Parts: sequence; structure tokens; C-alpha cells
Amino acid sequence: MKVIDHLNAVQDRVLVSFEVLPPLKGGGMKDIFKTLDPLMEFKPPFIDVTYHREEFIYKQRPSGYYEKSAIRKRPGTVGICTALMHHYGVDTVPHLICGGFNVEDTENALIDLNFLNIQNVLALRGDGRKFDGKFVPEEGGHEYAIDLVRQINNMNNGQYLDESIENGSTTDFCVGVAGYPEKHFESPSYKLDLQMLKNKIEAGADYIVTQMFFDNKYYFKFVEDCRAIGITVPIIPGIKPLTRASQLVSIPRVFYINLPDGLVDEVTAVNTKEAVKDVGIEWCISQCKELIEFGVPCLHFYTMGDSATVYKIISGII
Ligand code: FAD
Repeated sequence: MKVIDHLNAVQDRVLVSFEVLPPLKGGGMKDIFKTLDPLMEFKPPFIDVTYHREEFIYKQRPSGYYEKSAIRKRPGTVGICTALMHHYGVDTVPHLICGGFNVEDTENALIDLNFLNIQNVLALRGDGRKFDGKFVPEEGGHEYAIDLVRQINNMNNGQYLDESIENGSTTDFCVGVAGYPEKHFESPSYKLDLQMLKNKIEAGADYIVTQMFFDNKYYFKFVEDCRAIGITVPIIPGIKPLTRASQLVSIPRVFYINLPDGLVDEVTAVNTKEAVKDVGIEWCISQCKELIEFGVPCLHFYTMGDSATVYKIISGII
């Protein structure tokens, strides 16, 4: 079933959904099941599985020269989606990115998803590789997520890259895209970023999932501003609890978002790891309660493999 149909079907309660990362290469499905088993009692209608492209690493050779090689540390997105569908009978949302794919690779990946009866895709651009410093599209690949949305939409209309294919079988993907309540870090302005988001919706996206935020005022304003420019699709808040003091520095650096004074004050006022985690959990519970009151369709949790924390939070709000 499509994400959009799940969202439309349930009006009287808030849904909870989860995002999981493929395990590091060498890990197995047991790692994913360990994260999800305790959370399945909350009956998530769908589970997202992230996609991780290859990174370059440099190994020093005995001669002293460095050898560049590409490795994918977390492969397996599509396999995990299929395994979750079979194991839990849940719908899945593989993340599909532009980076590392040319349009032919993308088409073939979508054909595989369609054959596997995966009906949802979160269409993303992906970040630049550390070595490149900025996002560099694959030769013959897409530059922006909107181009990927267009390609999916074309296939939903039976249009393949090979124009000689007539009456191609139509796919029926529900497409999600990313939105940034505090602006995407590369965008020159919040207003322009919103316009780019609107373009993605007009290109065929069905719903938005937001970047994490720790101050609901950003989400509320974002929704208001989206509605004001004519974005009418559901906007699912992405939720991540702060669980370690070191995240006071790493979260703003990695995700380009702000942490509110109140949260920073509370975290710096306590001295133990457990107390920091408790502060993060309580903060997240308050955030979620306020979001439910606001009428969000679904709370989407970035689990980061920490089911115990997510379990406590959901137990505190439902
Ligand atoms: P885009 O929508 O393409 O936007 C990128 C930037 O370009 C923005 O600044 C936008 O304003 C601008 N822009 C867009 N279109 C145009 C245009 N036509 N002309 C000029 N400027 C334009 N990354 C992964 O690698 N794997 C994942 O699984 C993954 N999951 C994610 C899940 C969520 C919910 C979120 C919020 C992010 C996720 N990311 C993931 C990170 C994401 O790939 C990065 O944030 C990336 O930098 C931007 O992706 P996007 O799809 O928002 O890009």
C-alpha cells in the first residue's frame, strides 16, 4: 500500500513510522530485526530504509603512495525492504538517490522495485562525497531530486528512456521528497528553497518528510509557509531524539540545524550519560505531544539503531 493511502486512511490518530539504516557491511538482517522487533507493536504503516552511496578511501601502499578505492559501507537497501515486507508484512520505502546513478541505472532500479511490489520511493539527491566537497552528479545522471521525481513520474505514465517502447507497462510509485524547515544548507535563501520544494511536488511528489528539528516553531512556520505558496501535500515531521552530549556539536555541524537554548541548557546542566539521554527523551516527548496537537499526520522516527529510546518516547506519547 502507498504511504499517501496510509496517511489518508487514518484520520483519528497519529501514525508512527520508522527509518532504519542498512547495517555496516558484514552485519546481517538480525541487526535490523533487533532494532525493529520492539517497535512493531506500534504498528508502523511503513518503514523507510536509507541508501548509502560509495565513499572513496585512500590506502597507503608500501611504496608510500596512496591508492584510491571506492567502498560502499552500507549496501542492501532494496534487499532489506523486501525482507521487511516478508517478515513483518509492512510497507517499505527505499530511499533512492541521484548520486552514483545514471538515468539508465535509475530506471533499472525502479524496474526492480516495481517487480518486487515496492510501491513507495523517497526521491533524494544525496549529499556530496567527502572527497568531492560538493554534490557531483554521475555522468548521465540527475543533478537534483526533482529530475528523479520526473523520471519516476514518467514511468508511472508508462514512459521509459527507450522511446521505442510503446505502451510500456506503467509503474504506480508513491513518491516522497525531503523538506527542510530550517532551509537546505546549500540554498541561498529559505524562500528559494521552498520554491524548489514546490517544484518537486508539481513534478509529481505525493508527500514531504522533513529534516529533523528540535524546535517545533521551525516546523510550524515551514508548514504555514508551504501552504501559503500552494503546497498542499502531507508534511511528515522527521523526529530524532538527542541522546548524547556530543550531539550538541555534531548535530548542527552534520545537519545544519539549530538546537534551542532550552535543550542546550538542560543538557549542559546534567553530568551523566543517562541524565543526558533522559533530557533528550523528555524533550522529544514534549515535541511530539505538541506536534500531535498541531495535527501532524504521522511522526517519522529516525531510529539510528536505538530502539529502546524510540520505544520510550512513543510509549510516553500514545
Ligand atoms: P534537492 O531537492 O535536489 O535540493 C538540493 C539543493 O538544491 C537545495 O538547496 C535546493 O534548494 C536546490 N535545488 C533543487 N532544485 C534546484 C534547481 N532546479 N536549481 C537550483 N537549485 C535547486 N541522503 C542519502 O544519501 N541517503 C538517504 O537515504 C537520505 N535520506 C534522507 C531522508 C530525509 C528525510 C532527508 C531530509 C534527507 C535525506 N538524505 C539522504 C540527505 C539528502 O540527500 C541531502 O540533504 C541532500 O543534500 C539534498 O537532497 P534533496 O533530495 O533535498 O535535494
